Amino acid sequence: MKITEVHLYQHKLPVKNGPYTMANAQVWSLDTTLVKLITNTGLVGWGETCPVGPTYAEAHAQGARAAITLMAPELIGVQALPLTVRRKLNTILHGHNYAKAAIDIAVHDLLGKATKLSVAQLLGGATTDRIPSYYATGVGEPDDIARLAREKQREGYPRLQIKVGGRPVELDIETIHKVWEAVGTTGVRLAVDGNRGWTTRDTLRVSRECQQIPFIMEQPCNTIEELKSIRNSVNHAIYMDENSVDLNTVITAAGTNLVDGFGMKVTRLGGLQQMVAFRDICEARNLPHTCDDSWGGDIIAAACTHMGATVQPHLLEGVWLAAPYIEGHYDSNKGIEIIGGHIDVPTSPGLGITPDESLFTEPVMSAG
Ligand SMILES: [Mg+2]
Repeated sequence: MKITEVHLYQHKLPVKNGPYTMANAQVWSLDTTLVKLITNTGLVGWGETCPVGPTYAEAHAQGARAAITLMAPELIGVQALPLTVRRKLNTILHGHNYAKAAIDIAVHDLLGKATKLSVAQLLGGATTDRIPSYYATGVGEPDDIARLAREKQREGYPRLQIKVGGRPVELDIETIHKVWEAVGTTGVRLAVDGNRGWTTRDTLRVSRECQQIPFIMEQPCNTIEELKSIRNSVNHAIYMDENSVDLNTVITAAGTNLVDGFGMKVTRLGGLQQMVAFRDICEARNLPHTCDDSWGGDIIAAACTHMGATVQPHLLEGVWLAAPYIEGHYDSNKGIEIIGGHIDVPTSPGLGITPDESLFTEPVMSAG
């Protein structure tokens, strides 16, 4: 099965009740990029990548489209197999994993359709048909965030992620205490995500002043060196998110006991095939992790859900989706939704999503 056509689409995803606020970004609308691959057997596969604005990571929407435009012509005639495609892409462009990920996801969709297996089956097999999600609050006033945390816990989310950073740390400390007062007795698990926004000074203070509150600290500071410096001085487990830019970094972080787990993004590593390696490294070291993406619609949501379904349940910290924060679906019948804080794993071949192409304007680029 060879790739015969590549089509690239741009699509806007407005944020419901925007903006969504993080330590280093406010987003009102997301600019997502979709890839459609067609093969000589007539099958169609879809991929997606959607950086959450240009300041969250070293990634931006126009960069994704420029990279895919560069790579697309050389994909024509290539076998639609994940490893073959990844190695081919690496001969065309160094890095730019987040752009390559959209192609990798589309190849998995194709391969699933060709073999009549779901992507979760292709990735080794689902452990369950319903996986946990977690809710990320955004940075906000302490009372508002505590109220939201209570509401989402009641909705059924087993885990909540409280966004902090980008403001006086006293407000973050107050927020954590108020959230704990609101949900501390419920058994819901907590993550506090600084999105690189705290100094080491802030991180040490938060851990000291919230010593009795059990939460994991996700990417509190900007660099790996800062994480190293606070690692042995905090009372809380440390998860790495933004710094884990590739498998090499993950191997080092796991191998040197720098972290207790990861917030992981499918597109940051380059797609599902790299995520399988990541999942297995974490399993070898008993490190919990998420299977997310930064943002995006049903295609990326399906990719994250299939991936998350293959993680050992005790190591899966949840699959975050943008679905609650955006309007509508690409697939009105089988769009990925979070119900009661959990997500049903699609069972149809491939990703299990058939996008309504009338939602997208003409391709911004076509090859083949
Ligand atoms: Mg994070």
